[in-house]
Order: sequence, then structure tokens, then C-alpha cells
Amino acid sequence: MRVPLIDLNAQYEELKDRLSDAIAHVLEASAFAGGPFVEEFEAAFAEYCGTNHCIGVGSGTEALWLALLALDIGPGDEVVTVPNTFIATVEAISYTGARPAFVDVDPVTYTMDPSLLEEAISNRTAAIVPVHLYGQPASMAEITEIAGRYGIPVIEDAAQAHGAVYAGQRVGTHGVVGCYSFYPSKNLGAMGEAGAVVTNDATLAEKLRMLRDHGQRSKYAHDVKGWNARMDGLQGAVLSVKLPLLDVWNAKRQAVAQAYSEAFAELNWANVPVTAEDRNHVYHLYELAVDGREELIKELRTADIAAGIHYPQPIHLTNAYSSLGYGVGDFPVAENCSQTLLSLPMFPHMSEEQVSAVCEAVRSFRYQTV
Ligand SMILES: *Cc1c(COP(=O)(O)O)cnc(C)c1O
Repeated sequence: MRVPLIDLNAQYEELKDRLSDAIAHVLEASAFAGGPFVEEFEAAFAEYCGTNHCIGVGSGTEALWLALLALDIGPGDEVVTVPNTFIATVEAISYTGARPAFVDVDPVTYTMDPSLLEEAISNRTAAIVPVHLYGQPASMAEITEIAGRYGIPVIEDAAQAHGAVYAGQRVGTHGVVGCYSFYPSKNLGAMGEAGAVVTNDATLAEKLRMLRDHGQRSKYAHDVKGWNARMDGLQGAVLSVKLPLLDVWNAKRQAVAQAYSEAFAELNWANVPVTAEDRNHVYHLYELAVDGREELIKELRTADIAAGIHYPQPIHLTNAYSSLGYGVGDFPVAENCSQTLLSLPMFPHMSEEQVSAVCEAVRSFRYQTV
């Protein structure tokens, strides 16, 4: 049975009529760049996250970049983040002119290891950016406690964790600002590029609204050097249709994850993902830690089952960031993640047959140690 890593078409089939109506409304109103459909989504997403403000932007990368700029981060500053992430987290830091500095991840949650955070802080550290990777919140209590002691703002990269909760509160609301991506394959995805920043800080929110719209407070009153980072009206309308389904879809992801983890619990060559106690996991990706990853991928491919690698290189070992001067062995847990983690098919519309097919194919794999 063919099982893709993700099937966006199944989601489209569920929502076809509602999406067509929503898109028609935008076309009829010619409200394409920002505007009322974006504002409607911003209000709904702020309420969903439990924040006072949501600022819709063009992508998750822009959300991170503008959040850093809104905190006046730039040349001469350092921003601490993790090497086990999608490269956008680090690009956003670089594009302010600040220097990214890394701290390794925890071997259980694969997110920022708070016990290593203080060593990474210097007198130039201007922000800390934990990433809620694969759908699991980072250890925010420890991270915000340390950041608070040093007076450093925390910016959360929540691009993979829409709807995830840590200590009773949504991700993105534990630091000063939270950054979301609505790239189509995310847990809440647009039909194109989109992102958002959430915050309770009214001054930051105001600054972000200006930064995303050419630095203007009102039309042609350009008070700061801004950018064009508005969210499309079409994306706002699409996201408003999908947001009410996010919790249902996340619950389906969790059910798939539970079926996988039960099926793989006894395998002596694989470790299932572990969720720490004070948080939930919304399984943007289901990461199985395996010995013999290449062989397993080949075997799954024979059974027509897709698998992915997130990510084949930790950021400190990419060509793009070689100039930072890090090398192999500097962040061993992140490096180990890049060599052993395998993403299995994960999407809310997976059929029972598809889930069983993946369980069967993985369980029948016999890893041969040499
Ligand atoms: C997707 C993603 C981003 C970037 O979002 P885009 O909308 O693709 O620009 C940033 N950080 C992480 C962890 C992501 O997964």
C-alpha cells in the first residue's frame, strides 16, 4: 500500500467547498494584501493561542526575522539557538546582522538542553530562541528562568508546534514573542506561504505591524525602516477555515503516533519518541531513532512507504554556516539526531490501513549489525 510522508490532498478533499467559498469572498472583495481577511484570522489565532496580539506576516522565516528586529537585535549581538532545527531559525538571526550561537539539544526531547544554556550565554547575547521541534515544546520553565536571570528575551520558534501546550499554556506564549509558520505542510498550513508572530506586549506588537508594512504607522508615514512582509488576504481566509480543525487534526496525529509507538515498543534497534511530563506533543513529525537507517529506508521504499530525514545536517555543519567555525563533535546530540532519526508518514488523514502498513513494514525489518 502506498503511504506518502504527508497527503495534503486528503485535507483539501475534506474542506473543498468551504475553501472555495472563502477564496471567492477574498476575490469578490479584492482584499489581497493584508486587509480584513488577515485581521479576522489574526484575532482568531490570538484567541486560540491565548495572547493579546497576533501579527500575520508572509512566512515563518519573516516572523522570526521581524521578531528579532522588533527587539532591536542586530550587528554586534549574539542570539543563542539550537543546531537541530530547520535552517530558517538561524537564517533569521543572520539576516539581522547578529551572530548565531548554538547550544546542543536534549537527547530525550531533541529540543534545547537547558543544562547547557548558561555556557552559551555571553555578554553579547541579545536573545534566546528555543525551537519546539517536531511538535514537542522545549523545556520553557528552565529556559525562561535562566533567560530572566540574565535579562535576555526569549523568542519561541513554534513553527512545528501549533496547538502544543506546555505547563497549561500554548507554545509561543512563554517567551516575549512566539513565531509561527503556516507553510502548507505544517500542522496548520496555508495554501501558499504565511506566518505569524504572537505576543502580549502591545509595544512590540505595534512595532511588528509597522515593520511588516514598510515601517508605516499610517499610509506613507514611514517612521522606521520596514519591509513588505504582509500576509496575503487569500492565506488569511484559508487559515480561518482551517483553524477550527487544528485540535481535531492534532488529536488524529496523536492517535497515529500512539499506534506507532505501541507497535515499535519492543524493537531493540529502535527508540520511539518520548514526551516529557509537563507538555504534550502534536507530532508535526514522528521521529523514530533507529540503527540502520539507510537499510530501513530502502526496505520501506520497497513496500511503497515514504520516509524522511529531518534534518540530514545539523546547522553548524552546513556549508552556509561553516564561517561560524564550528566542527564535528561540537554538538554531539544534534549530530546524532541527524544520523539516527527517521520521520515516518504522519498526517491527520491517514487511514487505518495506511497506519497498519507502516507498522507492519517497520516491524518486519531486521537490522543486521556487522
Ligand atoms: C518551517 C519552519 C520555519 C520557517 O517557516 P517558513 O514559513 O517556511 O518560512 C522556521 N522554523 C522551523 C522550526 C520550521 O519548521
